[in-house]
Amino acid sequence: MQRFTCPFCGLRDEREFSFAGESGKTRPDTAAEVSDADWSAYLFTGTNPRGRTDEIWVHTPCQEYFRMIRDTVTMEVLETVPLRRDPS
Ligand SMILES: [Zn+2]
Repeated sequence: MQRFTCPFCGLRDEREFSFAGESGKTRPDTAAEVSDADWSAYLFTGTNPRGRTDEIWVHTPCQEYFRMIRDTVTMEVLETVPLRRDPS
C-alpha cells in the first residue's frame, strides 16, 4: 500500500486518490472543427512513460486537484504541487 501527500491534507492512503490525466496535455480547440482522430487521441492516448512522469491527480475527500511528479519504475513520489495557488 502506498501513501501519497495531498498538498492540502497531507499524507494519506492511496485509496483516497484518483488519477485524472497527464499533466500538460492540451485540449483541442472545440471552437473549430476537431476530427474524430484528434479528439480520440486527446481522450484516450497517453504517453505512459517509463520513469519520471508528471500527472494530475485528485484527492477525493477534499476534491482538490494537484500535479504529482513520480517515478513509474521506483514508484517514488518526487513532488506534489497544488493546482490552486492558495493551498489552505
Ligand atoms: Zn486533500
